[in-house]
Amino acid sequence: MSVMAKRDYYEVLGTERGADAEEIKKAYRKLAIKFHPDKNPGDKQAEENFKEIGEAYEVLSDPQKRAAYDQYGHDAFDARKRGFGGGGGGFHDPFDIFREVFGGGGGGSIFDDLFGFGSSMDGGTNRGADLRYDLEIDFLEAALGCEKDVKISKLDECDRCRGSGAESGSGRKTCSTCAGRGQIVSARGIFRIAQTCPRCEGSGTIIEKPCKSCGGSGRREKTSTVKIRVPAGVDTGIRLRSVGNGEGGIQGGPPGDLFVVIHVREHDLFRREGDDLICEMPISIVQATLGAELEVPTLNGKANIKVPAGTQPGTIFRLRGKGVKNIRGFGTGDLLVRINVEVPTRLNHEQKERLKEFADVCDVKTMPLTRGFVEKARSFLTKLGF
Ligand SMILES: [Zn+2]
Ligand SMILES: [Zn+2]
Repeated sequence: MSVMAKRDYYEVLGTERGADAEEIKKAYRKLAIKFHPDKNPGDKQAEENFKEIGEAYEVLSDPQKRAAYDQYGHDAFDARKRGFGGGGGGFHDPFDIFREVFGGGGGGSIFDDLFGFGSSMDGGTNRGADLRYDLEIDFLEAALGCEKDVKISKLDECDRCRGSGAESGSGRKTCSTCAGRGQIVSARGIFRIAQTCPRCEGSGTIIEKPCKSCGGSGRREKTSTVKIRVPAGVDTGIRLRSVGNGEGGIQGGPPGDLFVVIHVREHDLFRREGDDLICEMPISIVQATLGAELEVPTLNGKANIKVPAGTQPGTIFRLRGKGVKNIRGFGTGDLLVRINVEVPTRLNHEQKERLKEFADVCDVKTMPLTRGFVEKARSFLTKLGF
């Protein structure tokens, strides 16, 4: 936890402080490719660098976090430091950031092109595909966290052959089409072109007796229930990753991942702004004028605020720590109670009369804003010659 030794994020990415979003992304891309662990197997320093640039990019690519960083440096996240590298939300993993930027997620074709590893990157061609599931949850569930069982229909391991694709007792034999090489070489003029063998799809072996249930693929369409733990503080657009719950692998290959995209339903009282909650609260002219003690709803009950005499519409009262827990563990937001002064409607005769009486006893001291405006407007119009 050496806070002192932390390098400046701009220095880490090798960009100017004033760099725009595109430059930052470009710098990140360049370094991410250079230091990606798959390119530097066993190299601890490269791995550290990869994490470091991931962290720098995570902050500098987010306008809010970048502003905080520009103002306070690493201190901006210091008190909340526990969140860093602590896992959790799913975005945190430097590999997730990498996939975000490179548009991977499903097998990662751009990813593969970059390294020229073919499609063997993510555990081989027989890895199951990643899946996306859109999950709609209530406002409170998002704020406080919840667990959800989601039912998804997907290609999953075949029960009969347990994913191997072969009938029990039978194994694999050398593919006769390519004689086990996995490739077929054909000559076209002076060129020799190597192609992946279409029969064994490059593996060099084929199943002796394909499973009767799945036809040898090792997978069948199945409906399964996946438990998704939704951490407190998620918001619309957040993507959670459920490792291994994507499509089953082909012929015993590893499964893909399930990406759950969160959609949060609106609330009658609260609105989110990052980790802060906003509650618009109407009060009467009398309460605003004379002051009042108000009870306000919070996520877990209620709180009291004292509205002083002469409170104007739009005044905000901040209740510290009564907002939403940050999804990455960066503390908790505030509850902002925004005062709205309600103008009475449908007054009866007596009420109107009383108000008129009240207006008669008002003077310049009771309505300084109004009087000030009237005076400014008058002198402005006089200058125009009206
Ligand atoms: Zn099967
Ligand atoms: Zn073959």
